[in-house]
Amino acid sequence: MDNNYADFKEEKLENVMSREELLLEHTHSFIVEYSFSKNTFEIFPEQNHYVNFDWKQLGPEREKEFLKTVFKPDVELYKHFIDLSDVTTSIRRSINIRLYVVPHIYEWFRITLLCYVNEAGEKEKTVMVFTNAEKEIEAIHELKSLVKVDLLTQLPNIDTFSMQTWELLKNHPDQQYAIVRMDMQKFRLLNQFYGTKEGDNVLRFVGVKLQECMDSEELYTYCHLSSDIFAVCMTNDMKSINRVIKYIQDSMDQYPLDFEMNMSFGIYMITEQDKIDRIPIVSLVDRAAIAQRVKNNYMNKIAIFDESIAAKEYAEQNVIMEMNNALGTNQFHIYLQPKTDAVTGKIVGSEALVRWIHPTKGVISPADFVPIFESNGFISEVDYYVLDKTCATIRRWLDNGIPAKPVSVNLSRANLYSPRILNDIMECVQKYNVPHDLIEFEITESAFAVDNVHLNNLMTELQKNNFRILMDDFGSGYSSLNSLRELTIDILKIDIKFLPGNRDDKRAEIILRSVIGMAENLGLDVVMEGVETQEQIELLQEIGCKTIQGYLHYKPMPVEEYERIVCEQADLTYDGSKMNE
Ligand code: C2E
Ligand code: CA
Ligand code: CA
Repeated sequence: MDNNYADFKEEKLENVMSREELLLEHTHSFIVEYSFSKNTFEIFPEQNHYVNFDWKQLGPEREKEFLKTVFKPDVELYKHFIDLSDVTTSIRRSINIRLYVVPHIYEWFRITLLCYVNEAGEKEKTVMVFTNAEKEIEAIHELKSLVKVDLLTQLPNIDTFSMQTWELLKNHPDQQYAIVRMDMQKFRLLNQFYGTKEGDNVLRFVGVKLQECMDSEELYTYCHLSSDIFAVCMTNDMKSINRVIKYIQDSMDQYPLDFEMNMSFGIYMITEQDKIDRIPIVSLVDRAAIAQRVKNNYMNKIAIFDESIAAKEYAEQNVIMEMNNALGTNQFHIYLQPKTDAVTGKIVGSEALVRWIHPTKGVISPADFVPIFESNGFISEVDYYVLDKTCATIRRWLDNGIPAKPVSVNLSRANLYSPRILNDIMECVQKYNVPHDLIEFEITESAFAVDNVHLNNLMTELQKNNFRILMDDFGSGYSSLNSLRELTIDILKIDIKFLPGNRDDKRAEIILRSVIGMAENLGLDVVMEGVETQEQIELLQEIGCKTIQGYLHYKPMPVEEYERIVCEQADLTYDGSKMNE
C-alpha cells in the first residue's frame, strides 16, 4: 500500500499490559524500588531489557555490580547522586547519566530518585525511575556544540569568545589586555566577483591564519564574529599586537587570488574600570569597531579607540538620550539665513536651519546632531518639524503684511526614501495654506548618487506641485555632473569649496566661472553659498552670479531678527508683537 498511513509497526501482543506497564514501555522507562526496612528490591516492569544489568542478582554486591553498568566517566557523579547519607526528609533528585545498554555501548538515561522519609526521620524507601533519554540528550548536545563554534571556520563564536575572554580576564588579572577586531575591506566585492564559495574559503583561510599566529601568544582568546569579522583578546602590548596584525596582513597578501585583500583593524585597550563594571565583551568589541569607523580609511588600516572617540561616543549617546524629549519640549527652533542679491545686498529669500536650544547647554550646532539623527532616522522628525515651523512662519507673514519671500528647507538624504514624505509635505503645506512657490526644498548633492530613479520621481511630484528644488552642496562630492544630466533640478547651490579664497587663485576662479556658466546654459538659477569676503563678492558680481548666501551679508538668525530686516528693507515698520512663535 502506498500511502502515508501504511507506515506503522505491528507485533503480536504476548500478554495483557497494565496502564503503568504500557506507559513505562512507551517511554523506555523502568522503576527500581528499594525498601529500607525489608532490604528488598523490586523492578517494574520485571521484564526489561533497557540496561546491561541482571536485576535478578541479589545480595550485598548488587549495588557495586550495578556501578559496572555506569559509563566510567559518570561513575563518580552517579555515586554522589545516590548517596543518601545526608538526607533527613523526603527528597527528589534527577540526573542525566550514561549507562551501558549492552557491553561497550552506552546510552543516556535520565534518573529520577525519590527518597521517602517517615515522620520519625527514618528512610522508608527509594524509588528510582530510569528513562532512556538518548534521543533528546543527543539532540541537545548536538545543538550545544553547534552554537559554540562558528560552523564555517570552526573558530569559537561570539558567545564562546565572551565566556572565554571573561575567564581569561578573571584568571590572569595582572595582565593588561586589548581587543583587536579585524574585518576585510571590500569583502562584499570579493563575494560578488568570485562567488560566495571563494568568499567562504577566504574566511576559513583567515581563521586558520588567526589560529596559527595566536599559537605563539601566551594568553589569548579569539573568535569569528560574523561574515568577515574576527576578533581576538590578547595582551595590550603594541609590539605583540603589531606582530599579529602583520602576520594576518602578510597572510592575506599570499592568498592566491587576484584581488587586493586588505584587512582593517580596530583596537580597544581594556581598562581596569571595564573589568570592574563588567562591560560586556561585545561592547568592548563595538568600541574597536567604532575606532575603525571613525579612523580607518584606505591608507590607515589600524585604528585605536582613544579618548577623543570615547568623548564623541559619549556625546552621541547623550544626544540620542535627549532627542525625543527635546522635540516634545520645543527645544528645536528655526533660524533663517537670508539669501541676497549679489549686487544690491537685499534679501531675496532664506534658508531655514535648525537650531537645538538646550535648556542647560545653550545653542547646539546642527553639525553636532544632524549626522547622528541621520544615522538613527530621527532626522525625519526634525525635518518635518522644521517644515511645519516654516509654514507657520510664512502664514504669519502673509497674515500680518510682513514681506513673504521663499524659504528653503533641507530634506535629509535619510528622509527621501520614506514612503510618506510626499504626503507629509502636502499635508503640512495645506494645513497652513501656504502658496507652494514660497517653499523650496534643498537636497544635498550626495543624495543624488544613491538612487536617481526614485529621487527623480519624488522631485517630479514636488515640481508638479510647484515647489522648487535646489541641489545643495553642489561640487562637494563626485556625483554632481552626472546627476545634472539626469535630473531636472531648478536651482544649483554651489558648495563653499568652489569659492576661491582670494583673487590670486586663478584656477579656482576658472572652475567657478565654468560651473556658473554651465548652470546658466542649463537654465538653472544659481546660489553661491559661504560668501565671506568683499573680494569674493566682487568676483561673483563680475562672473554674473546673482544670488548669494554667506556670513558677509547675513549669518543665520532668529526669525524675529530676519523679519525686522525684511521689513526695514521694504520700508515697513516692524511690529514685534506679531511674533507668536
Ligand atoms: P547646509 O545646508 O549646507 O547649510 C549651510 C551651513 O553653512 C549652515 O550651517 C550655515 O550656517 C553655514 N554658513 C552659512 N554661511 C556661511 C559662510 O559664509 N561661511 C561658512 N563657513 N559657513 C556658512 P549650519 O546651520 O550649522 O548647518 C550645517 C548643516 O546642518 C547644514 O548644511 C545642513 O546640512 C544641516 N542642517 C541644518 N538644518 C537642517 C535641517 O533642518 N534639516 C536637515 N536635514 N539638515 C539641516
Ligand atoms: Ca542647505
Ligand atoms: Ca549647503
